[in-house]
Amino acid sequence: MQFAAIQFKFVDTLNSTARQASAERAWSAIARFYDNCKKKIKGKKGYPKFQKNNRSVEYKNSGWKLSEDRKKITFTDKKNIGTVKLKGTRDLNFYPIDQIKRVRIVKRADGYYVQFCLSVDIREYAKPLEPTKRCVGLDVGLKVFYANSDGETVEIPQYYRKAEKRLNRLNRKKSKKFRKGQPQSNNYKKARKRYARKHLRVSRQRKGFAQKEALRVIKSNDFIAYENLNIQGMVKNSRLAKSINDAAWSTFRQWLEYFGFKYGKATVAAAPHNTSQNCSNCGQKVPKSISTRTHACPHCGYVEDRDINAAINILKKGLSTVGHTETNTRRREIPSGECWIRPARLRKLSEPRIPRLSAMGVSN
Ligand SMILES: [Zn+2]
Repeated sequence: MQFAAIQFKFVDTLNSTARQASAERAWSAIARFYDNCKKKIKGKKGYPKFQKNNRSVEYKNSGWKLSEDRKKITFTDKKNIGTVKLKGTRDLNFYPIDQIKRVRIVKRADGYYVQFCLSVDIREYAKPLEPTKRCVGLDVGLKVFYANSDGETVEIPQYYRKAEKRLNRLNRKKSKKFRKGQPQSNNYKKARKRYARKHLRVSRQRKGFAQKEALRVIKSNDFIAYENLNIQGMVKNSRLAKSINDAAWSTFRQWLEYFGFKYGKATVAAAPHNTSQNCSNCGQKVPKSISTRTHACPHCGYVEDRDINAAINILKKGLSTVGHTETNTRRREIPSGECWIRPARLRKLSEPRIPRLSAMGVSN
């Protein structure tokens, strides 16, 4: 960091913990790349890229100060952001101030946000749920968002498909205004913003749905088994990719695991092999193609919807792996509360000052 500070004068005006945080990020990107190479991970290794257009800055325990009522935040580095109001529904008075470990300013298509990263045991803040005495297996599908072992299905919300027409139109409008090899017009910039805001809205709807569904499943069951799917591998199949992304599986799973942890429910990721092929009644293998929607067993005569049969198999597998280490192996993200900063006050932040932060990390 010393090195960067000598070479680039502007570094002096940045908060020291923000400098550290960006250097840490750069180092973790480099370390991850070497790690992936050493482990000989198939496909892309994630060669670190020079980051331009950085949209966030992260402070640790200095460089910011909350007001007495915690409705305003002041940034105290030499970037003249000053005091900004916090909008939003989260009440910061709820948590002790020393639990705020990181504060992040993030630029989104519709304004600036402040994220507070808290170190809390979320289980302490959870209202205990009555045991439901119910177990469930979930099979995520293309036709339905998921089918469960009780024979219920939940439809995929076609947010993206519905919004797609409008997205395409906005994208076309943007492209028409693009001028090659010269500075872009204000109209182009406006069109680009409209397009970005629409994308943001769609992604928020998707996240909201996944969150709501996950909480519903956790509240009505004590034990939840689901497939340990390789979603990245599946998204490569571009014909299916749109539906898979749309269904927001991985977000759904993250929230399942998060709520499971919070409310003390067991979540198990079972190996996905043969869950749709095997008969959940007698265990015999009944080969079928993707287009076969019904499972009809020639061995025992059992007939069931394809996805529901799979969900029952997943529940059985999940129950048989309890106690193994396969449960909850994924990294659990600590969600952070997001408060909205009035955009007008932050216009100064927009261009090159913040963006250079992570670049510095690399040159360290
Ligand atoms: Zn059978």
